[in-house]
Amino acid sequence: MTVPIVLFTADLRVHDHPPLHTALAASGEVVPLFVRDPAIDAAGFAPPNRRAFLADCLGDLDAALRGRGGRLVVRSGDTVEEVCRVAAEVGADEVHMSAGVSRFALAREARLREALASAGRRLRVHDAVTTVVPPGAVTPAGSDHFAVFTPYFRRWSQVLPRTPLPAPRAVPVPDGVASEGLPSRASVTGVSKGLAAGGESVGRRRATAWWRTGAADYADRHDDLAGDATSRFSPHLHFGTLSPAELVHRARLVGGAGPEAFVRQLCWRDFHHQVLAARPAAAVADYRTRHDRWRSGTAAADEITAWKRGRTGYPVVDAAMRQLAHEGWMHNRGRLLAACFLVKTLYVDWRVGARHFLDLLVDGDVADNQLNWQWVAGTGTDTRPNRVLNPVTQGRRYDPEGVYVRRWVPELGGIAGAAVHEPWKLPAPERARYDYPGPVVTLSEGRERFRRARGLAD
Ligand code: FAD
Repeated sequence: MTVPIVLFTADLRVHDHPPLHTALAASGEVVPLFVRDPAIDAAGFAPPNRRAFLADCLGDLDAALRGRGGRLVVRSGDTVEEVCRVAAEVGADEVHMSAGVSRFALAREARLREALASAGRRLRVHDAVTTVVPPGAVTPAGSDHFAVFTPYFRRWSQVLPRTPLPAPRAVPVPDGVASEGLPSRASVTGVSKGLAAGGESVGRRRATAWWRTGAADYADRHDDLAGDATSRFSPHLHFGTLSPAELVHRARLVGGAGPEAFVRQLCWRDFHHQVLAARPAAAVADYRTRHDRWRSGTAAADEITAWKRGRTGYPVVDAAMRQLAHEGWMHNRGRLLAACFLVKTLYVDWRVGARHFLDLLVDGDVADNQLNWQWVAGTGTDTRPNRVLNPVTQGRRYDPEGVYVRRWVPELGGIAGAAVHEPWKLPAPERARYDYPGPVVTLSEGRERFRRARGLAD
């Protein structure tokens, strides 16, 4: 019997891991492999925050495997070449991996299948590891994917997720398979100061705490900017240190309005993944074009810089952008407001904002990021593509005491309550005390410009 390889990608865990489980059941010994592929860096998908989090995840995965008698084998190079090399070294007949959805992942999978087949080996791709329901498993009549969330959610909810698999007790790995050293977080420069720690152990501890204290109130509190009451599972779901199927399973066992609302959010994740799997071009091109002629030139460039720095003069937008810079993560309501401000009020191409988010977000994910940006820009799946969120009314609603703004924009710390959302309304002498810019554009000007550009009547 030959030793199968388990190629880890966006599934850096030992719990509920179908490729690992199947390979072990078949052979009793496996080679757990991770390939550090420079093509991912070259494509701009490995900025410092995600490299640092990945280093944590690999260290934790290696420790989990060592605790079970094995270890992680790490190689660097082109994934296909490295997997084939290891397969030849250990005489593996089969390579197991989880299915991906991005153009990059699908192309890698196809190349790997072909290269292995030409050497008489087999690639086994496992579905429903990185999503709850595999892309394409539910489709509407006459199409290969759902373009609207609500009907997708209805059908998705009827699919029973896999029963989660336990972590294997032992993971025997043959001796003599060479491995590079593990990357370390300390060697990565340019990391956000407040970046969370990565790894399956951290993720599972967070999940335990969440089911105990956070989930029940989720439906009421998920939009509370200052309360920070969401799960913060997104980086763990991106790197696969938590299993989405296991989370749904658990939520349904716990039951109640909070867990139900939480499951709906996990469905949004699957929704975007099935759109991207069917339309890989949506990562870079409008999913539904509105024929926008986005602003460019010096004025737009200055405003983009102000947006990135958290100096637009709109406190809730600036607070969100500073949270992103400091933590490599941003609250969902902050993401909606910051993104809407860029694409609609400033009328700047969604790709500019999406790139900046991908450069900083620890959960930066092609499907979730690009398709959420398109949703906000009205070029994606939103059924109300021209809605414009007002950062002042939204700030007052979701940060009624101004706590979130004062946390991230400390120069406005002297303004009490919700007045912090409109510093320009303060009397001039008082306003002058704060080192904070005036608005880059008035909201009415921005809104009119956007409506004109989209050919909408006032
Ligand atoms: P919770 O509220 O606890 O939700 C639980 C999980 O549901 C999340 O971890 C996430 O996996 C999923 N989820 C929640 N909302 C969404 C959503 N709108 N779309 C897809 N999945 C969702 N999420 C990413 O994971 N990566 C991204 O790169 C990303 N970019 C975004 C860009 C913009 C402009 C916007 C508006 C949203 C983006 N999101 C992205 C979605 C969402 O903001 C984050 O998933 C969420 O804020 C993560 O926090 P949480 O884990 O506490 O979420």
